[in-house]
Amino acid sequence: MFRISQYMREIAEAEHTGRYPIPAPRLRQQPGKDAGVAAGQQPGPVVIWNLIRRCNLTCKHCYALSADHEYAGELSWNEVVTVMDDLKAFRVPVLILSGGEPLMRPDIFDIAHRARAMGFYTGLSTNGTLIDAPMADRIAATGFDYVGISLDGLRETHDKFRRLEGAFDRSLAAVRLLRARGVKVGLRYTMTALNAHDFAPLLGLMRTEQVDKFYFSHLNYAGRGNIHRGQDAQHLATREALDLLFARAWDAACQCLDEEYVTGNNDADGPYLLQWVQARFPRWADALRERLVAWGGNSSGVNVANIDNLGHVHPDTMWWHHTIGDLRQRPFSQIWSDTNEPLMAGLKAFPRPVQGRCASCQHFALCGGNTRTRAQQLTGNPWAEDPGCYLTDEEIGAMAGSDADRLALTPFRKVHILQQGANNV
Ligand code: SF4
Repeated sequence: MFRISQYMREIAEAEHTGRYPIPAPRLRQQPGKDAGVAAGQQPGPVVIWNLIRRCNLTCKHCYALSADHEYAGELSWNEVVTVMDDLKAFRVPVLILSGGEPLMRPDIFDIAHRARAMGFYTGLSTNGTLIDAPMADRIAATGFDYVGISLDGLRETHDKFRRLEGAFDRSLAAVRLLRARGVKVGLRYTMTALNAHDFAPLLGLMRTEQVDKFYFSHLNYAGRGNIHRGQDAQHLATREALDLLFARAWDAACQCLDEEYVTGNNDADGPYLLQWVQARFPRWADALRERLVAWGGNSSGVNVANIDNLGHVHPDTMWWHHTIGDLRQRPFSQIWSDTNEPLMAGLKAFPRPVQGRCASCQHFALCGGNTRTRAQQLTGNPWAEDPGCYLTDEEIGAMAGSDADRLALTPFRKVHILQQGANNV
């Protein structure tokens, strides 16, 4: 996750005080760079836990192909408890409870209560349609630290995506019910060619409804199969969306508004923000670059992990097609630490063994080579260039004009399903 607001607030403070704020201590694990962290003291990864595959919706873009029926073989309460104990012992700081629709799991509040009691930062990722007033009361009483609600656009767009008339109104009502109870709420939006026109209005809705957070999830690919990516209109659309997001986050920082803007699934956002700052506040660019290098970009398999409904472990939610272990056979702590698994060995390597334009990119230290699953899906090689990078060759310090040699797009729908792995509701 890329925390735009955090950096915007730092720049705003620097502009105000004439001094860049002292960086907070780095918590990110970076194998080979954490000499200052005592052995056994590193935090575990943030765990996104898809506890149930069942969902009350059958969204067009659901990566899990969820439906409103039970799925066999899901982790039982006792198994969940065993896993939670292991996660705690492994110093996992954050659990994001997800699905399917997590509120359809009968013991979801027992799990959440236990997570809170154990000291996990506990988030809930939901489509929001099941949250009426009594459910909002339960969520508030449970003490979730954060609730993310997916909105694909305004009413017409969202209902079309979710294949349910009234879904938008129900999700928005959930936002209001939770806000009224003091629950921290975020909107989760994945931009596609079909809903990009609703992005700006959604930002407006966020402010009107006083929503705490906006999570902008990138679409990896946008379906023109045979054109070169350097000329791809999707990259231009992404840049325009980021420009708007940066402007909003900067405005919020200058007004000291309690709004948070974050992005996911495209770590080129780091270098792109650096360019934004270089153009407007060049005296803070070096300090920001230092901060972005400390952040380090993509953290799949290092600082973020995924557990699916069957207890299979993945490097993150984008890697559902690649299992690195089964919690019914080995505890999470063992699976996560095992670098005999080739993909995990590469993800945990520092630097990662990326190839192509990522290997020679001047921003590699900031971006970490971006989302490896896109390269793997497109070429079979997880270390090839990330085809989702929207920076030009000139911007990454490569020979200008060679954009035409970049990987071609795969058809939109196929990849769109993968992309939704990060959103999962
Ligand atoms: S070329 Fe690769 S390493 Fe450089 S910004 Fe793009 S995705 Fe990141």
